[in-house]
Amino acid sequence: MAYLTQPDYVKYVCSCGQLKPITNLYFCRHCLKIRCGFCICHEVDSHYCANCLENMPSSEARLKKNRCSSCFDCPSCFHTLSTRATLVQPRPDPAAGDAKVENKQAKKMYYLSCFNCRWSSRDVGIPDQPVASGGWPERVNPHAARVNQLLDFYKAIAQQEKQEKLDKERKKFAIRGKYITLTDKTGLTGAMARNIAGLPSSESSSLAIANFVPSQASAEVEALPEDYYTKEVNLKQVTSMAQRLAAPEWQPTNAARLHPLARALSVKRSQRCRNCDHNLTKPEYNPGSIKFKIELLAYYHVPEVKIISYESVKAGATTSLLLKLANPTPHEMQLKLLQPQDVPPREETEPTLDKSLEKSLSFEKDTSWTKVIERQPALPTASRVLAPDTSFTLAQRDDAAEYDDDTQHDTSDIILWRKSNKLALRLQVQTDDTAKPGEPARVAVALEYSYRNTVPPAANAPPRTDHTLYTTLILDLGVVAE
Ligand SMILES: [Zn+2]
Ligand SMILES: [Zn+2]
Ligand SMILES: [Zn+2]
Ligand SMILES: [Zn+2]
Repeated sequence: MAYLTQPDYVKYVCSCGQLKPITNLYFCRHCLKIRCGFCICHEVDSHYCANCLENMPSSEARLKKNRCSSCFDCPSCFHTLSTRATLVQPRPDPAAGDAKVENKQAKKMYYLSCFNCRWSSRDVGIPDQPVASGGWPERVNPHAARVNQLLDFYKAIAQQEKQEKLDKERKKFAIRGKYITLTDKTGLTGAMARNIAGLPSSESSSLAIANFVPSQASAEVEALPEDYYTKEVNLKQVTSMAQRLAAPEWQPTNAARLHPLARALSVKRSQRCRNCDHNLTKPEYNPGSIKFKIELLAYYHVPEVKIISYESVKAGATTSLLLKLANPTPHEMQLKLLQPQDVPPREETEPTLDKSLEKSLSFEKDTSWTKVIERQPALPTASRVLAPDTSFTLAQRDDAAEYDDDTQHDTSDIILWRKSNKLALRLQVQTDDTAKPGEPARVAVALEYSYRNTVPPAANAPPRTDHTLYTTLILDLGVVAE
């Protein structure tokens, strides 16, 4: 989501230090912090085909190599291919001495065609199919055997490493003398347990490693054909780089070798806060739905700032700036402008949710990613907004108020106008003498705002619903004028 009119003249400083427009940010209601795509955890919820909307679990998607089995893309322009039907008169069969075919019924046959570039499966000699969906001849990957060998090899290595790790852990517990292994309790050996679970035994994995033949690098390269430099090139027959790379297994150089591409599956993602593990977005499972079950976007929680207009910034001068602030929350908001350096440091609180339970459930879960690196980027200092020392009250969002015309103009020196949950401010930007003409004019300003949290607090946490939060933003004011 982005504005067409104001792409990213106003950027917010994310907790991780990235600068992003508000439409690209999330807001964790549990940590009360702004998060961006860089500092959250992305998870694949479901796989689906964006063309036929069929969805499937990830195991099936992996089996199908993340491609839809019934939809194809054009290998020439990548548009979706459509299935077309034609009536075909059956050909007389000379072997049977069958000369009369008029009384035989015409048969319906299907082929694939691109409505965008007119490429069709007939162009490359793929025979028409008697059924509308499926049944298209599949090309075999010439390197399939080697790829499978490599896969088996790496699976075996992963298996071995896992086993070593387990053995190490078991030893550690055995030394402490408090731990009863599964083997002690049930007489079950590790190999038997693996067998029951359907996992490859350690013997078969070590066999796969021993039998593996690594690739050999070679300095000798096949010579180019004689006529390589003299033969005239017909560009109509040569494929483009994009066309070749769309089919990495074959990489056809000749347009006659193009083959319909099975459509790659799309995924629905849910996103989590890395610090507290809560969901920030969660889409509805149905691939046809574009709605979210959880959608904690900063756009709904953090005051929105837009630049109405500004005077060109000049070195050593004070210029005017008009800003519009909006309160997107359903609660009244107190707002104040600050200098970024006046933002008080945040006292770090441990995530309040019960993490121990989650940890006990997922024994081997890798938690190294939960550390969120938080830092402050270098803020522009050449210019500063002369922030008024007053706080403003912004009414709650009211969708019906969009239709009202009663804008209050000129309510004070600073407030230019007021309209339901929006407010326009008349501000001054002061620029140092050191600012050089032609350099980008950027100014940092911090917002202090009240936020009412509607999330019920964790069991043993004090019930706090009203918070004072801070956010820093950077305004892009063009370039420093002469
Ligand atoms: Zn969080
Ligand atoms: Zn971030
Ligand atoms: Zn499909
Ligand atoms: Zn096409």
